[in-house]
Amino acid sequence: MDLPVDEWKSYVFRKWSLLPKSIQDAVSTADTLRDLFLHSSSLLQPEDEMFLKSLSGGYLVGKDPNAPPFYREEGNKKFQKKDYTGATVLYSKGISHARPHTADISLCYANRSAALFYLDEYEMCLKDITRAQMHGYPESLQPKVTLRKVECLVTLGRLQEAGQTIRDLESSFAAKPTLAAAQFQILQRNLCRLKMKVKERENLTATFPEVVTKVFEDMDLREENEQIASASSSVGLRVDPLRGRYLIATKDILPGELLVKEDAFVSVLNPGERPPLHHGLESKWDTRVTNGDLYCHRCLKHTLAMVPCDGCSYAKYCSHECMQQAWDLYHNIECPLGGLLLALGVFCHVALRSTLLARFEDAGKVLKKLCGEISNKGMCSPESENLIQMLSSDVGGESEKNGKGVKTPVPGCDINGKYENNYNAVFHLLPHTENHSPEYKFLCALSVSALCKQLEAADSSKPEAAVPPVLCSELNVWGVAMLKQMLQLQCNAQAITTIQQTGSKENNITDSRLVRLATGIFPVVSLLNHSCSPNTSMSFVSTVATIRASEKIGKGQEILHCYGPHHSRMGVADRQQKLRSQYFFDCGCPACQKEKHRAAVGPRWEAFCCSRCGAVLQGGDVLSCGSTSCTESVSREHLVSRLQDLRQRVGSARNLLSNGQLEQAIQLLLVYRHDAENFLSAEHSMVGEMEDALAQAYAALGDWQKSATHLQKSLRVVEVQHGPASVEMGHELFKLAQLFFNGFAMAEALHTVQRAEKVLMVHYGPCSDEIQELQKMKSCLMDSPPFSLGPSV
Ligand SMILES: [Zn+2]
Ligand SMILES: [Zn+2]
Ligand SMILES: [Zn+2]
Ligand SMILES: [Zn+2]
Repeated sequence: MDLPVDEWKSYVFRKWSLLPKSIQDAVSTADTLRDLFLHSSSLLQPEDEMFLKSLSGGYLVGKDPNAPPFYREEGNKKFQKKDYTGATVLYSKGISHARPHTADISLCYANRSAALFYLDEYEMCLKDITRAQMHGYPESLQPKVTLRKVECLVTLGRLQEAGQTIRDLESSFAAKPTLAAAQFQILQRNLCRLKMKVKERENLTATFPEVVTKVFEDMDLREENEQIASASSSVGLRVDPLRGRYLIATKDILPGELLVKEDAFVSVLNPGERPPLHHGLESKWDTRVTNGDLYCHRCLKHTLAMVPCDGCSYAKYCSHECMQQAWDLYHNIECPLGGLLLALGVFCHVALRSTLLARFEDAGKVLKKLCGEISNKGMCSPESENLIQMLSSDVGGESEKNGKGVKTPVPGCDINGKYENNYNAVFHLLPHTENHSPEYKFLCALSVSALCKQLEAADSSKPEAAVPPVLCSELNVWGVAMLKQMLQLQCNAQAITTIQQTGSKENNITDSRLVRLATGIFPVVSLLNHSCSPNTSMSFVSTVATIRASEKIGKGQEILHCYGPHHSRMGVADRQQKLRSQYFFDCGCPACQKEKHRAAVGPRWEAFCCSRCGAVLQGGDVLSCGSTSCTESVSREHLVSRLQDLRQRVGSARNLLSNGQLEQAIQLLLVYRHDAENFLSAEHSMVGEMEDALAQAYAALGDWQKSATHLQKSLRVVEVQHGPASVEMGHELFKLAQLFFNGFAMAEALHTVQRAEKVLMVHYGPCSDEIQELQKMKSCLMDSPPFSLGPSV
């Protein structure tokens, strides 16, 4: 997803392999990114562009006037089956293909408002009604949506508006009676009912509850850092020739303390599952739901009521405001390039978007910086000091003013030594040019060249285009800048994740899973080095990243976060391999050093056990029983294939579970778990997975007690694997709390709520959805009268 589509990738690699050796050498030994870019650019042939064009053309990114009626029809089918969420998404798809001010768009909005109404989303429903009317909703259908509007207003307690809307409707009938007699009677009856509802509500108004608003007190850093924007004052920036830049604790830090809160400099929503390249007719309109259908393309907020771009069908937003902002900042240029950007992948898209954003930071200065750097032969040197000098000389070298003597400025900082979330900082992230393979560099350079060609063509096709002069006159400069960004992204791209609630309403306990929403750049977060057992925890709210201490960090200790390979999820060899190939370094963190020494015994959550006595098996290719009185030995290969087999069978049992075939799923899972006891340790992650699935199945049947028993077993495995204070543990405790709560086991519920709260507070802080939900449960539990568990006499 981050990289270009496979078709283009293999096309470019083939082209590379066919180049004469001398040209390959010239490209791969290019001194500067500028040379690399210009060489590759000159090799881009019209047939290459044609090929890429045919790939981009496979994506349905424009507006297809035939699509809205199709999606509306499909949405209506879901609506009739009472799947209102499914219906909303399909109506949204219809809306994204409809042109503004057409019957199509207004009908889709009106239908969506109905689905939202049934989902109790009254505010959104009202907005959609307004949108339907704005786009010319047919006069004859007006009464229907107006009644819905009144219902919403009444439910929301906006009684005056409700009353006014009723009066308006009545007077418009009096003016021009357009309805048939029978319809009119129905309408009259409905109006009567609503008027009574308004009256009832008016009497209740005194006790009507205030709308609960979220308190965002702790969401801000207590004391902002003077040197690093978006960081707390407990954090300091250091630089060292070996380690580069890194962050340390300047005072003792407690678990849960907020250390960094940074909005992405740039972010691009991952399109989710890559839309199929379709050439046939049957799969023309996709009814699958992807992240692109559920999350705002600018702020990443989850919404069921998307507002699409007027010009394309793929960019969708949570609100008109987000759409306008995106348009002004970058989408005016990206809009016609949808297919191309999908084909070239998210990295290329991020590179384009951040250079577009750079225009808003004093364009002249940025351009000068780019030109200066690009003409400088030493561009590949890790950090270009000339740039700092150039910038400093601009302002007359005031950096000595502080009286602290002349320090070497930290790359990415401004002349006052301040590090900020801006293009200057982004520009100084390392591209690691020397570490990338020549093929990869060629792929990036050729992709960026093709993108530049398209930008140029778009620019010349409309003389008064939105492309500012700085972009078109210096396209090569921007090309080099984009290339540098694309190369930087391999090490500096940050996955923006969210917790998605899975599991249907009938399932009663929600299961959550972490999904990758977008790819972004966070200059301050990028300062953190990696550890496989980090001392921080990271989470996201829309495009804002927060980093909290997950344990005590002493003054002077380095602040570390995990780039992905975490010691509780991956063995040491796999981690080292991943870090070396993607981030170009050998990890020497304490977890890696410790594990290397005791590589013979794997962790307990991967351990096999003896079928005879149950002790843990040890060894390499042949495993033998750890108990001295037992002589059992068995080949690792045999056990591994047994585990694979089990994993597959558990997978199909899970499928039964999600299809609602609960009894069958439980039967199979109980058998499999019994099998597992013969060769897996009780703390094996596979055992945990089965217990978790059993807990889900019993919960769906409403058997809380059994469900809780199984979930507690799964909890033990999670505790061994991830640790008692881990975020994984927090999620598991959260589920258990829900179970006890739903099963009216008050004391256990309260106890578990408090445990979950303690763990999750450290990772997510007090304003996260999870904590809010737990607090709601807690106050509900505290308010309920003392509960007698014994039989009533
Ligand atoms: Zn938004
Ligand atoms: Zn657009
Ligand atoms: Zn490590
Ligand atoms: Zn044994």
